[in-house]
Amino acid sequence: MTIRLAMVGFGKIAHDQHLPVAQASPAFDLAATVSKDGKGVEGTPHFSDMAALIDSGIAVDAVAICTPPQVRRAVALQAIAQGWHVFLEKPPASTLAEVAVLRTAAEEKRVSLFTSWHSRFAPGVEPARLWLADREIRSVTVTWREDVRVWHPEQQWIWQPGGFGVFDPAINALSIITHILPRPLMVEEADLDVPANLAAPIAARVSLRDTAGVPVAMDLDFRQEGPQSWDIMVETDAGTMTLSKGGDELSLPGGAPTSPNAGPHDEYAALYARFADLIASGASDVDVTPLTLVSDAFLCGRHNRVEPFVE
Ligand code: NAP
Repeated sequence: MTIRLAMVGFGKIAHDQHLPVAQASPAFDLAATVSKDGKGVEGTPHFSDMAALIDSGIAVDAVAICTPPQVRRAVALQAIAQGWHVFLEKPPASTLAEVAVLRTAAEEKRVSLFTSWHSRFAPGVEPARLWLADREIRSVTVTWREDVRVWHPEQQWIWQPGGFGVFDPAINALSIITHILPRPLMVEEADLDVPANLAAPIAARVSLRDTAGVPVAMDLDFRQEGPQSWDIMVETDAGTMTLSKGGDELSLPGGAPTSPNAGPHDEYAALYARFADLIASGASDVDVTPLTLVSDAFLCGRHNRVEPFVE
């Protein structure tokens, strides 16, 4: 039976990825869209909030929640209360306690809860994990520098409390390294640069270490002009492995870079296949590891006030 899906938070990522992937998937039927601005898809009922969707009585089995993180917990709890399965965009919520509340509510209602991490499904990621499994890892460098004006135009939520600032993209890097590195990571130090007119960091340097003492250095910046960097370099006993373009391209020592069949919707097609499997098997997939490291960076980091930023 197809899963009747409502998409809640019908902004950039919903249009770019969720809509084309769900429409192409035989496992899902788009039952409704929900977004404050009132624009949906022709032929599909659209509602301005969750209460209106629920009141409509439209049959829904699952929701994909693509709102900003600050409102995700409230929306997810409304969905779970209806007995609907829940796909959470990354980051799964604004705080760890919120995810714990959602996990408990989903267990009580026996619905599937999926904390999605799309970058883990980039085509270079799994080959990188397999290659690293047999190597001695000496150090890791993450450079995640992008232009917020290009990638998040007019998204005020990203600068507000709970919006993550530069950690909104950087949590993708954390989702990759927590997947490809063999041991758990801990934050040792962090420097967070917060513009005087905003509540969230625009840049950060984060030092982590794994349980064997391997250092991981992250350089994050939202003001990058020119070429953008979404790169992870791992020094090993067999040479340097580079995973670039957000996980799309993998370079192994002595080999040419490979980009194994990277299609525009591959990551989200894999996420929707996983969500359908979870629903079919009555399971949940709740992984807060990347969110925990962001939370720890905020907790133990120095918060430096830097000059105001105006887009
Ligand atoms: P966005 O373009 O600002 O879209 C967010 C949407 O949520 C807007 O349509 C907004 O409506 C709606 N919304 C806000 N509060 C709502 C509520 N209470 N109920 C229903 N709808 C609500 O943001 P985005 O770029 O799509 O990002 C959304 C999430 O996806 C973020 O967590 C981000 O990290 C993640 N993500 C984004 C990308 C990307 O490339 N942009 C990639 C991967 C993941 P209004 O506009 O009317 O306020």
